Amino acid sequence: ITDTFDRIESTEKEIDAFLTLNKENALKKAEEIDEKGITSEKLLAGIPISVKDNIVTKDMRTTAGSKMLENFVSVYDAAVIEKMSEAGLINVGKVNLDEFAMGGTTENSYFKPTKNAWDQTKVPGGSSGGSAASVASGQVPASIGSDTGGSIRQPAAFNGIVGMKPTYGRVSRYGLIAFASSLDQIGPLTRTVKDNALILNAISGHDPKDSTSAKLAVPDFTANLTGDIKGMKIAVPEEYLKDGVAPDVCQAVQEAIKTFESLGAIVEQVSLPHTKYGVAAYYIISSAEASSNLQRFDGIRYGYRSPEAKSLEDVYVMSRSEGFGPEVKRRIMLGTFSLSEGSYDAHFKKASQARTLIRQDFDHVFSEYDLIIGPTTPTVAYGFGEIVDDPVAMYMADVLTVPSNFAGLPGMSVPCGFSEGLPIGLQLLGKHFDEDTMYRAAYAFE
Ligand code: GLN
Repeated sequence: ITDTFDRIESTEKEIDAFLTLNKENALKKAEEIDEKGITSEKLLAGIPISVKDNIVTKDMRTTAGSKMLENFVSVYDAAVIEKMSEAGLINVGKVNLDEFAMGGTTENSYFKPTKNAWDQTKVPGGSSGGSAASVASGQVPASIGSDTGGSIRQPAAFNGIVGMKPTYGRVSRYGLIAFASSLDQIGPLTRTVKDNALILNAISGHDPKDSTSAKLAVPDFTANLTGDIKGMKIAVPEEYLKDGVAPDVCQAVQEAIKTFESLGAIVEQVSLPHTKYGVAAYYIISSAEASSNLQRFDGIRYGYRSPEAKSLEDVYVMSRSEGFGPEVKRRIMLGTFSLSEGSYDAHFKKASQARTLIRQDFDHVFSEYDLIIGPTTPTVAYGFGEIVDDPVAMYMADVLTVPSNFAGLPGMSVPCGFSEGLPIGLQLLGKHFDEDTMYRAAYAFE
């Protein structure tokens, strides 16, 4: 753990992944573990891990990347924090994100932009950009992120690491600051597939405090990491390799397909015809849910209160105007608009119908195949400022990741090549609660 903090200190100037370090507590925990010794049930004891700063911790502030929560300290630990601690994992600190997890570059953080681990002139992706950069730069072997429309998989792809968004319901979201509750899911980012499976083992399982958490036994996700995937049926959606996807990315995915075939998998092309409605529907539904979830930040119950406020109305209006950044405000406006009388039918209801069609596309493919593969993102990492000021371009880049959140399906990104020195991610999508097959395939591919 001492080495970890040395490493963080020496690399942080270039990476800027951390918002808060947990040095004192982490060292204390490490000493306790040293005294007790590591038992076989506590395989992960003493391993350092970073945590996205939208997951609440009672020992450290939780900012959600926002001025609104700059000095907020939770009175309880999120369920995943408790699980991590039971497994002996040591939380070394909280890492940067786009404000309230809204974004794909980590440039929407109120505090600072994090840098890509491979090239410090490029973004790390987002919103779990701090998580991905802290792992890829070797600061920590693992991080916990959250994914509403790609926020684990896209930064994993941009940093050349492994990121898993488990099935909706697999990991408790108790203590995750809600963005869009019907889509949010917590999952691990790591350097290898096996590490990822080990961390998911530790954080999964039913939690009565999260009503959407599934009452299902958690298999050992490392049990089938044999390298054998003979006969596995893999689908490649034609829509995932269309124009808009960079040629180098397409080529890397084609190479990956060949690798899967050489490992004995059966790879066939399929269609997910409603993919094209995904982004539009996602930004309506996720913003609608966000506009509701973010009502609690009213200057009274949590966080920032404008010092200039003179009346109750002022407290609400000024605290929210000063406390939220531009992207968060944009989404609250979009969400409130699409839920309002007069636009509900044309926008929110239509988006919900599109969501159903997208789910049905997946049901159809998964009735015949074990796995879907394609690119995680249409391009490799962008430069700073290159895309963030063009919200629509930014939103369109989520075309390949949002559909699986709509369906609650598990999605994973594993490294599959480079384009001009920047990593490319291969996306694997699995059936509900079948992360096991994804890990098996990813391990054989890795
Ligand atoms: N980029 C997407 C968005 O901005 C995804 C965010 C996420 O998964 N948290 O909404």
